[in-house]
Amino acid sequence: MDKTARIFVAGHRGLVGSAVLRHLTAAGYTGLITRTRAELDLTCQAAVSDFFKTERPQYVFLAAAKVGGILANDTAPFDFLRDNVLIQSHVIESAYRCGVHKLLFLGSSCIYPRLCPQPMKEEYLLTGALEPTNEWYAIAKIAGLKLCQALRRQHGFDAISAMPTNLYGPNDNFSLTSSHVLPALVRKFCEAEASGASQVTVWGSGTPRREFLHVDDLASALIFLMEHYSEAAPINVGWGTDVSIAELAVQVKAATGFRGEIVFDATKPDGTPRKLLDVSRLQTLGWRPTIALKAGLQETVAWYRAHRASA
Ligand code: GDP
Repeated sequence: MDKTARIFVAGHRGLVGSAVLRHLTAAGYTGLITRTRAELDLTCQAAVSDFFKTERPQYVFLAAAKVGGILANDTAPFDFLRDNVLIQSHVIESAYRCGVHKLLFLGSSCIYPRLCPQPMKEEYLLTGALEPTNEWYAIAKIAGLKLCQALRRQHGFDAISAMPTNLYGPNDNFSLTSSHVLPALVRKFCEAEASGASQVTVWGSGTPRREFLHVDDLASALIFLMEHYSEAAPINVGWGTDVSIAELAVQVKAATGFRGEIVFDATKPDGTPRKLLDVSRLQTLGWRPTIALKAGLQETVAWYRAHRASA
C-alpha cells in the first residue's frame, strides 16, 4: 500500500476499525475513507454498491460487523447471522466488482470447533461442531472467509482473512449485557471500586480459558498482513497464551484497585471451555505482539475511567 492509496476502513468506530484507523493515520496514510452507519448502511446492497462505484477504494479493511459477548450472541441469533452475512457479502462483492486491489476480512477464533485441539491451528476449521452460544456468529464468519476463498479461486481476487482471538482496548463495548468478558469486568471492577461495593460478580464458573490481544497489536498485525500475506488460508492473530476467567478477574481487580470479593454466578453460561490460537504461521511470517495483558489492562482501565460517560 503506498501512502496515498485509497483505503476504506469499514467499521471505523468500532474497537478494531478505530485501531486500524489510528495506526494508518500515525503511519502517514493520507487516502483513508470512512463512513458512519448513518452515512452508509452496509446491510443495504444498493448503498454499498453505489459507495464503491463512487469512492473507488483500492484497499479494504472489513472490520464492520455485529459483535457481542456470550449473552448477546445467545439471545439475538438472527441478528448476528443476518447482519454479518449481509454486511460481508455486500462489501466483499462490491470490492471485487469495483477493482479493489486487496481486501482483508476480519473473522474470529469462534469459527473453530467447540472442542478443538489446543492451540487451534488454521487447518482445524470445519473439523467439528461449533460452540452453540455463538454458532450463529461463527457460521456468518465462516461464510465470510469462504466468500474470500471462493472469489480468489474463481476470479483471482486478492482477499485474505485474519482470525483474531478475544480483543480488548479503547473504544470497546463496555455494556454489561452485550459486551465481552474483559470490558465487562473492567467496568464492573471500576464501578465497584468507585462505589465501595463489597463484591463483584463474574459470570459462569471462572474455569473457561481465553486468550486476550490488545487491539493496537491487532491493528499492527492487520497492516502487516495487508502488506505481506496473500493466501487463501485464514491466518490466526493472537497473543499465544491464555488465562482462566478467574485469573482474568484477579488481574482486573488488581488493575482497578478494588479490594472486595469476587463471586461467581453459575447461572450464566461458560461457553467454550478453551480458545487459544496457534499463532505460529503469523510468527513465522515475522510478526509478534508487544502489549502484555498486565500493561494492556492498566491502559484499558485508565481509558475506561477517562471515557466512562461515553463508553
Ligand atoms: P466468548 O469468548 O464467546 O465465550 O464470550 P465472552 O467474552 O462474552 O465470555 C467469555 C467467558 O467469560 C464466558 O465463560 C463468560 O461466562 C465469562 N464471563 C464472566 N463474567 C462475564 C461478564 O461480565 N460478561 C461476559 N460477557 N462474560 C463474562
